[in-house]
Amino acid sequence: MDIPRRKFDTLIIGAGGGGLRAALQLSRAEAHVAVVSKVFPTRSHTVAAQGGVNAALANVLPDNWHWHMFDTVKGSDYLGDQDAIEYMCRAAPRVVYELEHMGVPFSRLDNGRIYQRAFGGQSRDFGGEQAARTCAAADRTGHAILHSLYQQNIRARTHFFDEYFAVDLIRDDEGVVLGAVALEIATGEPIVIEAKTTLLATGGAGQLFRTNTNALINTGDGMAMALRAGIPLQDMEFFQFHPTGIAGKGMLITEGARGEGGYLINSEGERFMERYAPKAKDLASRDVVSRAIAIEVREGRGCGPNRDHVLLKLDHLGVDIVARRLPGIRDTVRTFLHIDPAETPIPVYPTAHYTMGGIPTDRFGQVVVPEHNGPEEPVVGLYAAGECACVSVHGANRLGGNSLLDILVFGRAAANHIIEFLRENRYHRPLDETSIERALARLVRWDQPGRGETVDGLRQELQKVMEEDCGVFRNEETLRQGTQRVAAIAERLQDAGIRDHSKVFNTARIEALELENLVEVALATVHSALERKESRGAHSRVDFPDRDDIHWMRHTLFYRDGRRLDYKPVRIKPITVEPFPPKERVY
Ligand code: FAD
Repeated sequence: MDIPRRKFDTLIIGAGGGGLRAALQLSRAEAHVAVVSKVFPTRSHTVAAQGGVNAALANVLPDNWHWHMFDTVKGSDYLGDQDAIEYMCRAAPRVVYELEHMGVPFSRLDNGRIYQRAFGGQSRDFGGEQAARTCAAADRTGHAILHSLYQQNIRARTHFFDEYFAVDLIRDDEGVVLGAVALEIATGEPIVIEAKTTLLATGGAGQLFRTNTNALINTGDGMAMALRAGIPLQDMEFFQFHPTGIAGKGMLITEGARGEGGYLINSEGERFMERYAPKAKDLASRDVVSRAIAIEVREGRGCGPNRDHVLLKLDHLGVDIVARRLPGIRDTVRTFLHIDPAETPIPVYPTAHYTMGGIPTDRFGQVVVPEHNGPEEPVVGLYAAGECACVSVHGANRLGGNSLLDILVFGRAAANHIIEFLRENRYHRPLDETSIERALARLVRWDQPGRGETVDGLRQELQKVMEEDCGVFRNEETLRQGTQRVAAIAERLQDAGIRDHSKVFNTARIEALELENLVEVALATVHSALERKESRGAHSRVDFPDRDDIHWMRHTLFYRDGRRLDYKPVRIKPITVEPFPPKERVY
């Protein structure tokens, strides 16, 4: 098959905040960079981020990066790697000031400094009083960041392949990654993009679950590409459920709403978080608040005719605060619930939100894999950053405001490492035709008429299974059932098809490819969750309610071949400071 080919120094798959921050660094260093995105770059999911990005600027209350580091290690339930966390928290003020200089319109204090709000799990002085660390552009911070990064990339002459779908990585017999095969969505034409280095920045996999805060495009494509290239996924059992999704619909009400003074009540009008987290109350970390809401509902203190949600009160804040600090939330609630949150409390329930696990990397963005049970080795030519990666700074539970920080810090770090790599590797290696053909085979398969069920039906079933068997609370029985049900869906997908080829656009084929990716990621998630026999962070096992540091203070690695699991130690040693030893986690 005669397929068009293009050559670049670096191929970046994904034009969210992670991909664009990396691309900018590389283009400014005069590297020849291509960014491939299945949606127009400014529609990438980073655009939806609301509350803000964490950095210890101390604009509102005293703060420093070391307190930020402590909160992040504690928030991760001690599963985060402390070297990466130190690196991220130290770099935070710098990346935020860089954004300011790029033109991000942050909200301002009266003295002109960047506005910072309180978010969950933030403290002063290593667990003391509440901190205010989240730098915000009202409640549209992701929108502001993504648009500024895109404009800066246009200025730096980054090359964009807009609305191209990356199908699979090209990896040669020596394990070196040499680019990817992509598909132009409008025409259905494949293209080979050859590159000396490839960065996966494809975002999360929130579409695994029926009720979620994510865009339809968040289907874990990069994670599945890594799995198919023989790379394991790390810590996939840790999926964050955000406490305040609009009940029954899933859209996010930012933690910033509680940061501005909002709080949760049950059907008895009780401010119940005081019982679960006496100190931090509504600003305890997300896993704690999500479980508290689920328990309130389960024990019959839910609100509404079905007693299936709790209420988030903002009406006491006054119209001025709601309009100025939370305008996007006000719009969303008016649109989807036809109420004004400045007057009426919002019905909320936990909703699937963030993929803590992902492609294993070191703090330079290199994808790293243990070789033959020995130490980790980088996969030459392959990098990952952002929500698709697991570096791991979030461990078992991410703190709000730390994901925008993660994509900026590690997008930038990966680009800096790539710049060094390109200095020492000036020529393209020869392309491996077999892996090109393997990637293309995925496309050909969906040109055949289907004999079985529809892609859409299977996707809905997968989301239902994941919600029922691998949700906020888990146990051996449901997880075992989940592994079987997802495996059965994987089987049935082999026979599924696009019903009438004469009438469909390529979007139907894209949805099929996305479902294949979701199924890969679902398998990784349920298998990892079944094996981790403890409760830690977002992974809450009813049958193993305690954290077990003796046996489980380690990262999970899921391999596609044989659906096999392996483990690797947590990097407890930071770069320059003393480690934070594991302690009981109370808020
Ligand atoms: P994304 O922004 O998701 O971008 C992924 C990119 O990959 C897109 O360009 C997409 O087109 C591309 N892509 C994917 N697959 C393919 C493929 N096969 N081929 C080609 N391109 C592909 N975090 C915070 O820190 N603070 C917040 O206030 C906050 N608010 C949030 C609010 C909401 C509603 C949600 C859902 C998340 C929020 N988060 C927040 C989390 C944070 O926004 C995300 O984790 C982060 O933006 C992810 O960025 P990313 O660059 O990794 O990926």
